Amino acid sequence: MSESAAVVWFRNDLRLADNRALTAAVKTGAPVVCLYVLDDHTPGQWKSGGASRWWLDKSLAALAHDIEARGGRLVLRRGDAAKELPRAVADAGASAVYFTRSYEPSAVALEDKLKVQFDEAGIAFKRYGGNLLREPEEMRTKTGDVYKVYTPFSRAVTQDFQPVKALPAPKQLIAPAKALKSEKLASWGLHPSKPDWSSGFSQVWEPGEAGAQKKLKVFLASALKSYKEDRNRPDKIGTSRLSPHLHFGEITPAQCWTAAAHAAAGLHGAADQGLETFVRELIWREFSNTLLFYWPDLPEVPFRADFAAFPWRSDGALLKAWQRGQTGYPIVDAGMRELWHTGYMHNRVRMIAASFLIKHLLIRWQDGEAWFWDTLLDADLANNAASWQWVAGSGADAAPYFRIFNPVLQGFKFDPDGLYVKRWVPELKSLAPDVLHSPWMLPADVLNAAGVVLGQTYPHPIVDHSEARDRALRAYEDVKAVSKK
Ligand code: FAD
Repeated sequence: MSESAAVVWFRNDLRLADNRALTAAVKTGAPVVCLYVLDDHTPGQWKSGGASRWWLDKSLAALAHDIEARGGRLVLRRGDAAKELPRAVADAGASAVYFTRSYEPSAVALEDKLKVQFDEAGIAFKRYGGNLLREPEEMRTKTGDVYKVYTPFSRAVTQDFQPVKALPAPKQLIAPAKALKSEKLASWGLHPSKPDWSSGFSQVWEPGEAGAQKKLKVFLASALKSYKEDRNRPDKIGTSRLSPHLHFGEITPAQCWTAAAHAAAGLHGAADQGLETFVRELIWREFSNTLLFYWPDLPEVPFRADFAAFPWRSDGALLKAWQRGQTGYPIVDAGMRELWHTGYMHNRVRMIAASFLIKHLLIRWQDGEAWFWDTLLDADLANNAASWQWVAGSGADAAPYFRIFNPVLQGFKFDPDGLYVKRWVPELKSLAPDVLHSPWMLPADVLNAAGVVLGQTYPHPIVDHSEARDRALRAYEDVKAVSKK
């Protein structure tokens, strides 16, 4: 039994099970100080957005509850973690800090800085993995390079690798005899105000470890089998909706993979394709994080340098129409409204809406990325940046720029019965599914009969698809010209 306390510094690992740092601290037998520092200083422009703060509020409450149920207490501090963490360590008279590593550039720099400080002070600073399946340092090609292409990366992740069995949550947490000062969660004002657009969130989400496990269970029972086919259908619940839980580390990718493999084994082959596809998506998350780790400016700068010459346009009114779901393209508008109301948007629609902003409106991908950062509950520096760059064509292993989504065809293909659009764009609900995705093509009497008045009840398209497509391709010529030089 060790005498002095150990500090467990929680960040995006808001879970008790499969938490290597927590398990290691508890194993020492020392009293454990569970600490969370709300740090808006370190991440700079990438401090948590509005929707993320809503999630964090609820997730911390759930974590505090789970810790208390085991005899411990969650200590909350606010400020620059480079100062607050050493302060809490001194307050606790602790001799060791345990934490799960992060891959965000500012967090990596903070870890490095704290390591020097704690080493000098003779305090053990113990870093653990677990938020990814494989650490970025492990992911090197045979020649020692970093992977820039997804398929070989994915192969390398799974080669000779199976996730190990998840660690159970500690049964008991021994708090130190003298309680540390803690701030009140409610005083942090994490719940959005001005405006509070979060009323729809709690109908769909249950932040916290228990909520994550429930989501996983429902997914495995109802959607894993058909995941490969249905994951592209926004009108169905065909995906796991685990992304915010994974972002906040309420569940690990290893737990997801292991549970999915177990469920698939029980289905005797019927879910094997679903399992394979699901693991592939989890590996996209690994790929994004690994890219961010090695290219820390990925959220701001095009991965392909030639895209720096792209002739973007700046148009506040068009950006606003996109943000508000008022573009006149039903599938884009449905996605943007789903995002606003639920803090989530289906992946297929994220691709369509992002492509529309970048290619139809020629607005910088960074503007879309910033809007998603503020409004997505799963806003994740790595996934968001890598995905926006993927759509823009400027990313590693990205979609070719010249492949421009036609929002009408995408709508008919992936929302064939129009259920998704009707849900989020109710002003079009009386239109038949075979015309729903292009209302401006309809004669006035059909629109009248459905109660649609373009320009009044629903906007005219803010750009013409084929003109926008041609303009986007011309803009791309500038990029190609630069890369040829
Ligand atoms: P599932 O299909 O059930 O997938 C399981 C998990 O795999 C997800 O929870 C997620 O962690 C991971 N995953 C799935 N698809 C991707 C992907 N393309 N890239 C990386 N990881 C993936 N995802 C985020 O987590 N945060 C973001 O900020 C984010 N921004 C995006 C922005 C754009 C423009 C686009 C096109 C995609 C973005 N994604 C982001 C990726 C993807 O849309 C979401 O991860 C997915 O929709 C989450 O739903 P799900 O949990 O039901 O996914």
